Amino acid sequence: MSEVIRLLPDNIANQIAAGEVIQRPASVVKELIENAVDAGATRIELHIKDAGRTLIQVIDNGKGMTEMDARMSFERHATSKLRHADDLFNLSTKGFRGEALASIAAIAHVTLETRHETREIGTKVSIAASQIEAQEPIARQTGTSVSVKNLFFNVPARRNFLKSDSIESKHILEEFYRVALTHPEVGFKITHNGNTLHDLGSAILRKRIIDLFGGNINEKLVPIEEDTDLVQIRGFVAKPEFARKTRGEQYFFVNNRFFKDSYFHHAVTAAFDNLIPAKTYPSYFIYLTVPKDSIDVNIHPTKTEIKFEEDRNIYSILRSTVKLALGKYNIAPTIDFEVETQFDVQPLQSHESIRIPQIDVDPTYNPFEEERKQLAQKSFSSSGSGTMKRDGLKPLQPNRSDWENFYEIARKEEDTSSEIEYEQEQQSLKQSMVLHRKYILAQVKSGLMMIHIKRAKERIIYDQLMEQFIVSPISSQQLMFPIEQKMISTEKLEWENNATSLRRLGFEWDWNKDTIVLSGIPAHLTTDNLQACLENVIHKISHENIDKGELAHELIVSLAAAASGNKHALSSEEQENLVNELFASAEHQFGPTGKRIIQTLEIEELNKRFN
Ligand code: ADP
Ligand code: MG
Repeated sequence: MSEVIRLLPDNIANQIAAGEVIQRPASVVKELIENAVDAGATRIELHIKDAGRTLIQVIDNGKGMTEMDARMSFERHATSKLRHADDLFNLSTKGFRGEALASIAAIAHVTLETRHETREIGTKVSIAASQIEAQEPIARQTGTSVSVKNLFFNVPARRNFLKSDSIESKHILEEFYRVALTHPEVGFKITHNGNTLHDLGSAILRKRIIDLFGGNINEKLVPIEEDTDLVQIRGFVAKPEFARKTRGEQYFFVNNRFFKDSYFHHAVTAAFDNLIPAKTYPSYFIYLTVPKDSIDVNIHPTKTEIKFEEDRNIYSILRSTVKLALGKYNIAPTIDFEVETQFDVQPLQSHESIRIPQIDVDPTYNPFEEERKQLAQKSFSSSGSGTMKRDGLKPLQPNRSDWENFYEIARKEEDTSSEIEYEQEQQSLKQSMVLHRKYILAQVKSGLMMIHIKRAKERIIYDQLMEQFIVSPISSQQLMFPIEQKMISTEKLEWENNATSLRRLGFEWDWNKDTIVLSGIPAHLTTDNLQACLENVIHKISHENIDKGELAHELIVSLAAAASGNKHALSSEEQENLVNELFASAEHQFGPTGKRIIQTLEIEELNKRFN
C-alpha cells in the first residue's frame, strides 16, 4: 500500500497542511514574526501591501540561517526547535511543528534572504508552490528577511474567501498586537502600503501597552500580581469605569504565548462582578507563567488554545487575584452605576466562545460557479465563430487550471479547432454504451475509448472532497442512531492523535471506554458503506506511519471508494455527465489510488486484429 501513499506529491501534502496553518494573510504574519522572535531578534519590521494579498515581508536582526538551513527550512516538519517527542512538553520557542515555512511556500511566492551570525556571506532562496526556483549567495547583514507574495495564487478557492482589505488588515494588526504584547523588549515596526502604523521601541510592558493603545490607557491600568506554586500572574486589568460596550482589549498569555480561553475569561469577568454594567467588557492584559510541563500547547495547529492541567485551580487564583487588585486600588464596589448592578456574566456569547479558526462557508456553495459562468460567457462569446453551441450541454465541472487553459486558448489564439473537436467528442459520447455495468465504451477520433466507471466516479468524488477539504472542513451528517465500534487501545490512541484531521473530515465521536461512539460521519458516507471505510481508516492510522497530508489523502480515497458505490448502470445522460466531469479533472487518466481509468483501443490496433 505504500506505493499509494507516495502518490500524494509533497506539494499537495504541503497544500493540505497549509489549509490548517495558513487561513489568511494574518496567519502568515503570525508565523513569520514568531520565527523572527524565536531567532532572537531585537528588532522586527513588518511590511504589508494590500492587506497582505500582494506582499507580506518580515525583516529581523536575529541569528539568521546558514545556506543549508535556509533550504531545509522549507521542508515539511523541518524544525530546529524540536528533537524528541518529550521536547513538546518543554517548549521555549513559539514554533515547533516545522510546518509554517513549508505551508507558506506551498501557496505563495516566497523569497528568503538570510545570513547566519557565524557566516561571512548570506544566501537568497526563491521558492513557489513548493518548488525551489533559485538559491544564490548574497551580501547582507546578519538576520533574515522573508517576503511572501501573491498569497494563495494557486488556491483560488481560498483566495476568493478572503474578506475585504479592512477586515484582513484588522486580523493582521491583531496578530501584530499579540506578538508585540508578548515581547515588549523587542522593537517592532509595522507599515501598510508604505504608511507606518506603529514604530515601537524596546520597552517595559506598561509602556508597550500605552504605545499600542494610546496614552490615555495609562490611568486605566491596574497592575495584578500573584505568585503561587501552580501559577505566577502578572499584567494589568483596566479599571471598571473604563469597561467598554464593545469587547475591548482582552489578552491572555501563558509562558510568553498568546492564548484564548473562555473559561479564564469568565474568571476575570467574574472578578468584575457587580462592578461593571451588564453588557460591558473589561479590558485586560494577563500574563500567566506555569511549569512548562503543566500545559499542552499542541492541541491546535494555530496554537491559540491551550490545555491546562490545573485549570480549575488557576481559575480560582485568577479570579481572586483580579478581585484583590481591584480592591487594593480602592475601586471596589463604591462606584454607583445608575444601571442595574446585577452583572450579567455572559462569558460565552457567540463572538467569545472558543472556535477552531475556520473559514465559514456554505459547504454546498461552489466557489467556481460564478467565475465559471463569467469565464464561460467571455470565452464563448468572444470566440464568436458561431461554431459553439453550448446551450445544450450540461454545466461542466472543470478543474480550474484546465478551464483557464481552455479559456486562454480560446481568447488568445482565437482558435476554435479544439472546441470543434470537443464538440465532436461530445457527439460521439452520445453514442456511448455501458458494458457489463462496468465500463463506458465510446467512439473517439483515434478509436475506441473505454472508461472504468467506478474509478472515474472515485476520481471525481476525490477531487471534489479534496478541494473542499483544503478550503474548509468536510461537512458532517448527524446520525440518528450513533454507531459503535470497539477498538484496541493503540487504535484508540492513534485515532485521538489524528483527531483534528478526522474532525475536519466530518467525523464526530465520543468514547465509551474503548468503544468509539460515532454521532457524525462524513456527508458522503452512508451507514452501509461506513463500516468498510471506518475499518480502512483505523487500519491506516494504526498500522502505517502516515502524516497529516497523507492521512487526508488516505481518508478521502476511502471516502471516494465508499461513496462511488457499486451500481454502475448509467443512463446515456448519466454517462455523458460522468465523462464531462471526469475530463474536467487534471488527473482524469488515473484514479486516486493510481489505477488506470481510461484505455483507448487505437483503430489501427483494431484493424490489425482483423488482418
Ligand atoms: P518552526 O518554527 O515550527 O520550527 P518553521 O517552518 O516556522 O517551523 O521554520 C522552520 C525552521 O526555519 C525553524 O525551525 C528555524 O530553524 C528556521 N527559521 C525560520 N525562520 C527563521 C528566522 N527568521 N531566522 C532564523 N531561522 C529561521
Ligand atoms: Mg515557525
